[in-house]
Amino acid sequence: MKKNIKDYNLDELKQVIQDLGEKPYRAEQIFKWIYIENVTSFDEMTNISIDLRNKLKENFDLHVFKILQKQVSKDGTKKYLFDVLDGNAIESVLMEYKHGFTICVSSQIGCKMGCKFCASTGVKFARSLSSGEIVEQLLAIQRDENIKISNLVFMGIGEPLDNYDNVMNAIKILNNPKGINMGARHISISTSGLVPKIYKLADENMQCTLSISLHSASNKKRSQMMPVNDVYNIQELMKACRYYIQKTNKRISFEYALAKENNDNLDDAKELAKLLKGMLCHVNLIPINKIENGKYSKSTNENIIKFRDYLNEKGIVATIRRELGSDIDAACGQLRKKEVEKCEPTQEQI
Ligand code: SAH
Repeated sequence: MKKNIKDYNLDELKQVIQDLGEKPYRAEQIFKWIYIENVTSFDEMTNISIDLRNKLKENFDLHVFKILQKQVSKDGTKKYLFDVLDGNAIESVLMEYKHGFTICVSSQIGCKMGCKFCASTGVKFARSLSSGEIVEQLLAIQRDENIKISNLVFMGIGEPLDNYDNVMNAIKILNNPKGINMGARHISISTSGLVPKIYKLADENMQCTLSISLHSASNKKRSQMMPVNDVYNIQELMKACRYYIQKTNKRISFEYALAKENNDNLDDAKELAKLLKGMLCHVNLIPINKIENGKYSKSTNENIIKFRDYLNEKGIVATIRRELGSDIDAACGQLRKKEVEKCEPTQEQI
């Protein structure tokens, strides 16, 4: 199979182009065609000689995803199902906010983390996505909608820190001012809590936002919801978070999905307030989205508001996340990998 040209950051692409016997500035031109003009074929790169275009065609492809399905929620959120060209399909979500468009990307095909409340767990893990495949989710949606996406969150299928190198390289590509030019401040990485990788990320000195999927301040409850807690418990996780804050001076965002009669009462809020006391952080409360065969269901609005108010009273900034796209299973935890053969190649609007 030909190599995906989108897997290279600009420095690597310069080397690739030099290896083909060409001048490195050609790499910048090609980079612009890919990430600014968003072309889908080498033939559209009109300031590149036919000879070089042919060399590129022989060795690389542009790995253009096919849209297998597109669903539009009544709140405007759009969910895409992409054929990643190897028999697998992944989902990405486009949300529109006042400040612009945000894409929620997948980092893996399936997920190994096994969180009990998340649909991405329900199917077998296939593989990690390459950096080009991560970036192509954004490019494919920009082409389809003719828009410029300003923010990106790694909150789709997969555990981004379990695909560390490719996620970092994708960020490098996204950041590049000669291409997409998306600043690190506009990118969020969400993790279930892979402690050694949080230390590594802290040492990168990047300005990305780190989100931690916490969901409980009690080890017993968290382990029931998230098997990763048996490997890295809350105390180890908090230590890594404090290191991250100290190194980056950035606020951490803690995700807390509220499930009825599980982690949503005042005692849970008290335990959480104690755990996060004095930390530079923000708590994102998510009314848990029920998934097929999942045992957790959404808290009552009353409990969610009480939970938030208690945290705010204790000086911990907490907000309730607006639920987008739940009618098309595009909300947090509702994305799952699919197999191409089982998907109808249609564009569906609901
Ligand atoms: N693996 C990463 C990123 C993917 S999940 C992580 O665990 O953070 C993105 C966010 O959605 C996480 O905070 C996750 O805990 C949350 N989530 C998963 N399933 C959910 C559900 N059913 N309802 C609400 N949030 C959920």
